[in-house]
Amino acid sequence: MKLKEILSPFYVWKRAFEKPYSINTLTEQRPGSDTYRGFHKNDMNKCIGCGSCAEICQNATIDMVPVSETKDGDSGLRPRFDYGLCCWCALCVDICPTGSLSMSNAYTWVEEGLDKDVRETFCYVPGAEAKPWDDEKLGYHKPDDYELLHLNRIPMPHLPAHESLSSFIEMVKGYSKELALKEADRCIQCGICTATCPAHMNIPAYIKAIREDNIEEGLKILYETNPLPGVCGRVCTRRCEDVCALSHRGEAISIRWLKRYISDSVEAEQYQKILQSEITSQNKSIAIIGAGAGGLSAAYYLLKSGYQVEIFEAKQAAGGMLRYGIPEYRLPYDALDKDINYIISLGAKLQLNTKIGKDISFDDLYNKFSSVFISTGLFEPNRLAIDGEDLPGVINGLDFLDDITLGKKIQLGKNVLVIGGGNVAMDAARTARRLGAEVTVLYRRREEDMPADKEEISDAYDEGIKFFFQAIPMKIEKTADNRLNFIWGKAEMVDQGNGKRPIPVMIEGSKETIIADTVISAVGQGTNFHWMEGQAIANIKFGKWNITADRWGKSSDPKVFVGGDILNSVADAISAIADGHRSARAIDSFLQGN
Ligand SMILES: Cc1cc2nc3c(=O)[nH]c(=O)nc-3n(C[C@H](O)[C@H](O)[C@H](O)COP(=O)(O)OP(=O)(O)OC[C@H]3O[C@@H](n4cnc5c(N)ncnc54)[C@H](O)[C@@H]3O)c2cc1C
Ligand code: SF4
Ligand code: SF4
Repeated sequence: MKLKEILSPFYVWKRAFEKPYSINTLTEQRPGSDTYRGFHKNDMNKCIGCGSCAEICQNATIDMVPVSETKDGDSGLRPRFDYGLCCWCALCVDICPTGSLSMSNAYTWVEEGLDKDVRETFCYVPGAEAKPWDDEKLGYHKPDDYELLHLNRIPMPHLPAHESLSSFIEMVKGYSKELALKEADRCIQCGICTATCPAHMNIPAYIKAIREDNIEEGLKILYETNPLPGVCGRVCTRRCEDVCALSHRGEAISIRWLKRYISDSVEAEQYQKILQSEITSQNKSIAIIGAGAGGLSAAYYLLKSGYQVEIFEAKQAAGGMLRYGIPEYRLPYDALDKDINYIISLGAKLQLNTKIGKDISFDDLYNKFSSVFISTGLFEPNRLAIDGEDLPGVINGLDFLDDITLGKKIQLGKNVLVIGGGNVAMDAARTARRLGAEVTVLYRRREEDMPADKEEISDAYDEGIKFFFQAIPMKIEKTADNRLNFIWGKAEMVDQGNGKRPIPVMIEGSKETIIADTVISAVGQGTNFHWMEGQAIANIKFGKWNITADRWGKSSDPKVFVGGDILNSVADAISAIADGHRSARAIDSFLQGN
C-alpha cells in the first residue's frame, strides 16, 4: 500500500473546521434557486389527461391514473410521478399542450418512519394529492420563447369570397399531399378527440396513416366507423376539433380536412379493392326508410354483415339533407355521390321516388322484412308564427335549398331577409347571395349564441351578408309596391341564472322595419310520423316529437329501429352516421337471436 493511501482518510480532517457546503441534516430546509426544477405541480382544471407528458418521458417516471372528476375533452386520467425514476429534465412540462404542468422549486421530500414501499411513498399525482409546494410560485415553467409543439394550423387553400360569390364551385380546395403531411405532423397522437367524436372514429390512427403516407390504411380506418368520409371530410361539425389537445394553447389539428384528404386521394374505382373483406351471407332482408346519412350508414354496416338491404327513399336521389339541404359550394354532388355509390355498390337495392305511407304502406314493409330501420330526418320547417307569414314572397329555407338542388329558377328580387341563426339560415343566406341578392340575416339572440358553424358565419360576413342580432320578428306586411315590410322588435338578453343561457326578451315599445323582396324563414325544423299507419305500429311507442328508442335505436317493437335526426338531439351528419352504425349492430344482434 502506498503512503498516500494510508494518509488520505486524514486529509478530510482539514475540512472539519470549515463551514459545510451542503446542509447538515436531511430535514433542514434550504430553498432551491428561483427556477430550480423541483417536484411537479399540475393544474387539475387545465389538465385534460392527454398523456403527452407520460409519452415523452424517457425514464418511464409517469403513468396515467384515473381521477374522479372529469370534463368534456378530458380522458379522466392524470399523470402520476415516480420520483425514484425522475431525472428532472422537464420535457414533460415543455410538451404539455395545455400548459397545466410546471415544477416547483422544492426539492426535498422527507418521510420519517417509513412503513411502506419506498417507491409507493415517493410517487404522487400532482394536483390531486396536496403537497407543501402546491402554492409555490417559483420553479420551472415552460419559457414563452420556445415551443416543442406546432401550434398553428397549415392554412387551407380557399376560394376568395369575391370569386366564390359568382358560382357554386366548392370553396375549400383541400390539402395537397405536402400540406396534409405537414398538418398530420402536428398531431401528438393523444386520442382525446376520439371520445368526443359521436362515431368514435380512430382519429390518431388515420392521421398516423397520413404521416406514413399509407392512404389505403387510412381509408380502411375511416370506413371502420364512417362510410361517408368524403361528406364528413367537408361538412362535419367536428366536435373532435373543439377538444383537440392543441386547441388549448393553439389551433386544433384540421381533423376534418385530413379526413377529406384521405378520401379525395383514393379514386372511386380503388375503393372495392382496398376495402373488400370477407362477408358471411345472411339469409335475411332489412328495410331502411330514408337514404340520408343515418339510413346510408346503417345500410353499409348491414351489408358488411351480409344482410340483404333495401332502401326506400321518397326523393329522386339519395343523400337526404346532405343533398337537398347543404349547398354545392360546401358539399359538391360528385363528392357526395362517391360515398353513396360505394355503399350502393355493395349490393343495396335503392328504391327512389318511393314514399313509405304513400307508395308502400308501413304494414307491408314491416311484414315483408326481418327488421326495419327508420331514419326519415327533419323535413318539416318550423313556422315563424307571426302575421303575414303566408304572404307570397315568404318562403322557408328548406324548400328554398331543395329547389336549388333541383335546379329550379328562383326569383328572389334584390333584397332578401333570412330569419334564423343556424346552418340552414347560413346556407340559405349564402345561396341567396350567390343568386345576386343583397342579404340581411336577422337573429333573435347574440352572435355568440348562433348555432351555425363559426366558419360559416365568418364566410357570410366576407361575402357581404349583413346581420341584425337580438331581433325578434313581429309581423310581415305587404307594401303598396308589392314588396314585404318586415317588422321586428329589439330584444334584450335576460339572464336565467343557474348556468342557463340568457333568453331574448322584447324591449317594450321597440319597433324596427326592413323592406325586402323575399323573406326566408330558417328557424329550425321538426318531423312527423303521420306516414306511419296500420297494424305494424301497434307496439311502437311514440314520444311527443319522435319514436321512443334506447341508445341502440331499438324501439319498443323489437323489429323496428330508428336513428339519425329523428332520434338524436344534435342533428348533424356524424351523429346520424353513428346512429346508423349502432343500429346496424343492434339489428344484427337481434337477428342472431341475442
Ligand atoms: C341546410 C342544412 C345544412 C346542414 N349542414 C350541416 C353541416 O354542415 N354539417 C352537418 O354535419 N350536418 C348538417 N346538416 C344536418 C345533416 O344534413 C343531417 O343531420 C343529416 O342529414 C341527418 O341524416 P338523417 O338520415 O337523419 O336524415 P336526412 O338526411 O334528413 O334523410 C332523411 C331521408 O328520409 C327520406 N324520407 C322521409 N320520409 C320518408 C318516407 N316516409 N319514405 C321514404 N323516405 C322518406 C327523406 O326524403 C330523406 O332523404 C344540415 C342540414 C340542413 C337542412
Ligand atoms: S401533458 Fe399536460 S395536459 Fe396532458 S396529461 Fe400531462 S399534464 Fe395533463
Ligand atoms: S387530433 Fe388533436 S386531440 Fe386528436 S390525437 Fe391529434 S392532437 Fe390529440
